[in-house]
Amino acid sequence: MPVRLHNTYTRQLEDFTPLDPAGRAVKMYTCGPTVYNHAHIGNVRAYVFEDLLQRHLEARGYAVERVMNLTDVDDKTIRGARAAGRRLADFTQVYKDAFFQDLGTLRIKRASHFPAATEPQYLARMIEMIAQLVRDGIAYQADDKSVYFRLSKFPDYGKLAHLNLDELRPSGRVNSDEYEKENIGDFALWKAWDEADGDVRWDSPWGAGRPGWHIECSAMATALLGPELDIHCGGVDNIFPHHEAEIAQSECCTGEKFVRYWMHCAHLMVDGQKMSKKLGNFHTLRDLMDKGWTGREVRFALLTVNYRLPLNFTLAGLEAARAALARIDEWVRRISDFRFQISDQQADESEMVPLVSRERYFFLALDDDLNISGAMGHLFDMIRESNSALDHGRLTPAQAAGLLHLWELINCVLAFHPDSVAVPAAVLALAEQRQQARAGKDWPASDRLRDEIAALGWIVKDTKDGPKLTQR
Ligand code: AMP
Ligand code: ZN
Repeated sequence: MPVRLHNTYTRQLEDFTPLDPAGRAVKMYTCGPTVYNHAHIGNVRAYVFEDLLQRHLEARGYAVERVMNLTDVDDKTIRGARAAGRRLADFTQVYKDAFFQDLGTLRIKRASHFPAATEPQYLARMIEMIAQLVRDGIAYQADDKSVYFRLSKFPDYGKLAHLNLDELRPSGRVNSDEYEKENIGDFALWKAWDEADGDVRWDSPWGAGRPGWHIECSAMATALLGPELDIHCGGVDNIFPHHEAEIAQSECCTGEKFVRYWMHCAHLMVDGQKMSKKLGNFHTLRDLMDKGWTGREVRFALLTVNYRLPLNFTLAGLEAARAALARIDEWVRRISDFRFQISDQQADESEMVPLVSRERYFFLALDDDLNISGAMGHLFDMIRESNSALDHGRLTPAQAAGLLHLWELINCVLAFHPDSVAVPAAVLALAEQRQQARAGKDWPASDRLRDEIAALGWIVKDTKDGPKLTQR
């Protein structure tokens, strides 16, 4: 069965076939952060969804080349830098660094390229594209010295967002990066410098100024991936006007169809409203880490809800993520312990049949437009069945070895495996003393040592194979 994806452009589920005649290389562009603040976990939902998409395509044998841009000049970054009294580049650097740290915390795979809008080669590309649009009569410089895209020159404008332009009656011009559908009009490609921009300015054939947000993505995408992309992603708030504008600019410049599959994740909500910096109802990843949640738990909470469903953010959701991960960890630990009791057995194909089908269903669910809740259902069935087989002495070590192999494959997509942390020497020494206390039947000492171990963040469990240490 091929991978099927929901294309926002057609509102249909479509079989995925990349442009590459060999059917292997996939070109994917994902709108990255506007670096004027720490990413909130709404933004992060988009990045986690894109990570799942990339990992699943890779699991299916595709070679994904992914670009994630950094918007380091736009209305919001300029406003932020001014409010902070800092140079734009110094101001955005703080949030670029924080963003890369967040990607690590969330186990998100690095994109192949992270272009930033202010890098000279991309600014040059933006100016080149705008110049071409002006030459072709598609863009024009207005009295305010800014350059605008003439909407009437692109009849397909509005197709991605399914807008009826006749009803909306586009009129006038919009100079800001973001605007409502009601204010639709010719949009800015190059914004003439004004005092509010301070020292943020570049020279261009139309005088000093800076690029509009939309042309930045068209330029970075086509510079790195060429005129035609396989997949372009973002959150649903990007559909209009950002992605609509990207299509108009790119297609008028290259003459090619810009994107074959548009994919958008639904919003992360708080109390029925979109989590956003503007509304102030947001949590950053840092806030959650400060409260004791881990990146893995946040990843789980965001990843395991199908990407097209709005996801309500709650602490109960994080608690459920913690409990589910504990269940997976415990299962991996049990199966590994059991498997290593008899180390030289190999998986016997015939014994593996029922378990392999679970793994197959896991990936088949993801083929169906990343149906992660279906996939997780199959994973937990596999966990339940194998735990029960182990409880009843029905699991063979060979099967356990096979299960661990399946888990490795599944984990390439989920990235939920616990970090393997070496047990600190101090904890090992206490555990050893505790063993001696137990051997001497000194139970009060044994309990005290258990508490000391717990205070260092470890739990000691007595199993028939001896004490086992795990992180709390
Ligand atoms: P920004 O930094 O605002 O440019 O957004 C970066 C990415 O996060 C874009 O793909 C947005 O569509 C996405 N995004 C912003 N807010 C949310 C939200 N509440 N839920 C899901 N994705 C979001
Ligand atoms: Zn973008």
